[in-house]
Amino acid sequence: MCGIFGVRGAPDAASLVHLGLYSLQHRGQESAGIVAVDESGAAHAARTLGLVSEGFGAAELAPLSGHVAIGHTRYSTSGSSTIENAQPVLARYRGGHISLAHNGNITNATELRRELEADGAIFGSTMDSEVLVHRLARSRADRLEDKMADALQGVEGAFCVLVLIDDVLLAARDSRGWRPLALGRMPDGAPVVASETCALDIVGAAYERDVEPGEILRIDGDGIHSSRFGERMDSRRCVFEYVYFARPDSRIFGGSVDRARRSLGRRLALEAPAPGADLVFSVPDSSNSAALGYAEVSGLSYELALIRNHYIGRTFIQPTQGGRNAKVKIKYNAVREVLEGMSVVMVDDSIVRGTTTRGLVAMIRAAGAREVHIRVSSPPVTGPCYYGIDTPNREELIAAHEDTEGIARIIGVDSLAYLSLDGMLGAVPDGPGGFCHACFSGDYPTPPPTDPDKLRFGCGC
Ligand code: AMP
Repeated sequence: MCGIFGVRGAPDAASLVHLGLYSLQHRGQESAGIVAVDESGAAHAARTLGLVSEGFGAAELAPLSGHVAIGHTRYSTSGSSTIENAQPVLARYRGGHISLAHNGNITNATELRRELEADGAIFGSTMDSEVLVHRLARSRADRLEDKMADALQGVEGAFCVLVLIDDVLLAARDSRGWRPLALGRMPDGAPVVASETCALDIVGAAYERDVEPGEILRIDGDGIHSSRFGERMDSRRCVFEYVYFARPDSRIFGGSVDRARRSLGRRLALEAPAPGADLVFSVPDSSNSAALGYAEVSGLSYELALIRNHYIGRTFIQPTQGGRNAKVKIKYNAVREVLEGMSVVMVDDSIVRGTTTRGLVAMIRAAGAREVHIRVSSPPVTGPCYYGIDTPNREELIAAHEDTEGIARIIGVDSLAYLSLDGMLGAVPDGPGGFCHACFSGDYPTPPPTDPDKLRFGCGC
């Protein structure tokens, strides 16, 4: 998964992008980058591995002058974490320069790349996104939005893209609307496009609307021009964005993430009460809102029983296999004064491999909890995501080969219950239709890649 942010018509656009990327850091921590186009039409790029706060200071921002810029935070699904794979991509072509920032996963990237390579194309990264740059450069269309439409013909899967060609900003969202993309305006009218509205808030932009599925926006000196590419398709917004990925202070897909998570928690409390429990707490931070919803309906008091260390980036030294729980212990600690002697409900947003949950349960018991009941505000994750969420292979997904009872035994809880698929889809804004829930249901909107390893060369985000 990744975060993307672009602005045009603002003095010192790169500084706004820089701020926006701070708010999109949760969508990707492996690398960050900004490309800006200066008054002479030259494009300048700065990219760094790691966090925005670590890699971008005054020295990196100084060369990025100009009134148009795009930026990216990267969380690769499979491509390696190298500076070559940091975005935005910046390439020269016969018409000048193209730079591109992409969020999502192109499911037929392997085939598209082979076609291009057979025709002599040379790739400088292992990202699926680079395929789009080649296709943009090859288009013979005059209008930039038509170039974009050409480039996106036959591209399958999930993508939100921002492109700079000269000083024109283009934005596009795939026809199923898998990933969120919002359009906003700075107080002086400059258009801003961002993965989530929390990134509009930080720069003081007002949310205007979502970029529509299948829509291309061309943003130039004359304003915003909308056109469409490809056929209209049934909406397949990623429900996991509401469950876990997006920030609760964002609105995505036209709905509030906070409201969605509270509603998931309320539904969970109705479907899976925990009679006799004394209190409820969340696995911070992604489960906070769902646990509040659970507390509201169950009448249990909401406690802060787990403390999360906020200074842990993704760069901390990975513990060895021998110290599996060390990773959990570095990230969380339990509050004995809250837990001792209590029968507790821990609300989590999802269980993927089960290793976090297992470590947390051991920690909560060690802090004196009498009974531990886990309630999960989404159904069991039984399949990988091919559309941009970094879920592991099926073999690593605990719910792919264990039923709920088996998982409860493995993680060592007194009881475990998940929200049902219907419950989840009924709880999120504008549900139950129009969502992709493949990782929970196995109902993939596109044929899964015949050989998922084909995606290995690609990053997607
Ligand atoms: P585990 O079951 O140990 O794999 O960890 C599951 C926890 O990781 C959940 O509580 C989520 O909050 C979080 N999580 C879920 N999906 C992802 C993801 N794609 N990337 C990172 N963390 C995730």
